[in-house]
Amino acid sequence: RRLTDAEADGDERAVEAALRPKRLDEVVGQARVRDQLGLVLEAARRRERAPDHVLLSGPPGLGKTTLAMIIAAEMSTPLRLTSGPAITHAGDLAAILSGLNDGDVLFVDEIHRMSRPAEEMLYMAMEDFRVDVIIGKGPGATAIPLEIPPFTLVGATTRAGLLPGPLRDRFGFTAHLEFYEPADLDLIVHRSAGLLGVELTPEGSAEIASRSRGTPRIANRLLRRVRDYAQVRAGGVVTLPVAQAALDMFEVDESGLDRLDRAVLDVLCRRFGGGPVGASTLAVAVGEERETVEEVAEPFLVRQGMLARTPRGRVATPAAWLHLGLSVPSAPAA
Ligand code: ADP
Repeated sequence: RRLTDAEADGDERAVEAALRPKRLDEVVGQARVRDQLGLVLEAARRRERAPDHVLLSGPPGLGKTTLAMIIAAEMSTPLRLTSGPAITHAGDLAAILSGLNDGDVLFVDEIHRMSRPAEEMLYMAMEDFRVDVIIGKGPGATAIPLEIPPFTLVGATTRAGLLPGPLRDRFGFTAHLEFYEPADLDLIVHRSAGLLGVELTPEGSAEIASRSRGTPRIANRLLRRVRDYAQVRAGGVVTLPVAQAALDMFEVDESGLDRLDRAVLDVLCRRFGGGPVGASTLAVAVGEERETVEEVAEPFLVRQGMLARTPRGRVATPAAWLHLGLSVPSAPAA
């Protein structure tokens, strides 16, 4: 769908899709991953073979889906998309695998959430391009071997550590995506603004970039909210004061912390005296899923130097207390 149609419908997912870089050389930042992946793909093209399986890990919104699509585009092959939670039975996976054509790229998002039997079937498919489909139950069950054409599996996970070792080991190339630097986010905001036809000053763009939690998806989303604000409350141009006012309104603070990030720090410092607190207790206290707290809020807070994950639990650092405008306790728990 065209970007303008998606925008007119207010379809945020379609807008997000339209803002995705289509080729490796359009990808901003992640220089190391881009170089390594570029090499892997170039080598595969020269050998005229499907590239090795690729595992992409990192917090949501950093570009895992985008890279999977780029891998398929760079290899000029179709991309098949599915996700771990969608594969509840080994049979679901067998159906997907048997429908693949030679050289296809199969993207499995949230691969760590696949069921155990499906996972075991996947090991075999990745290694031998073959699966055993079990027909029947109990002593009468028979395994029917099924050949699978050579394909490239691209798995995405928020944390590679959540994957069982045998699965992790079967990926020939693993890339860990890091949070983006403000300068890279600035480039992404400029690129998206160009595509969306938003006029913005360098200071306006830098402000959005610095409050985007190191995350391109958030940069794009904040840009659209700031653009709304600029159109409704200001002259349409995203300047520094317009960006500041809009981001304050949407409760994104100067360091890029959103409501959940602040809630985590708040509970940690005010309710638990700075910790240590177990991950589940913390999640219950902020009223969120443990996974969301662990995969979304914590990685960013750790990177901001505000939270430490210790064997005894989560601990607030002095920076956390200061961020909340509280004085650091004389014997900080950290
Ligand atoms: P993930 O799969 O890791 O959750 P996505 O690949 O869906 O993240 O990326 C989210 C959005 O961020 C996409 O719409 C894309 O436009 C943008 N994006 C991600 N990475 C980059 C990048 N390196 N350069 C430019 N835009 C990016």
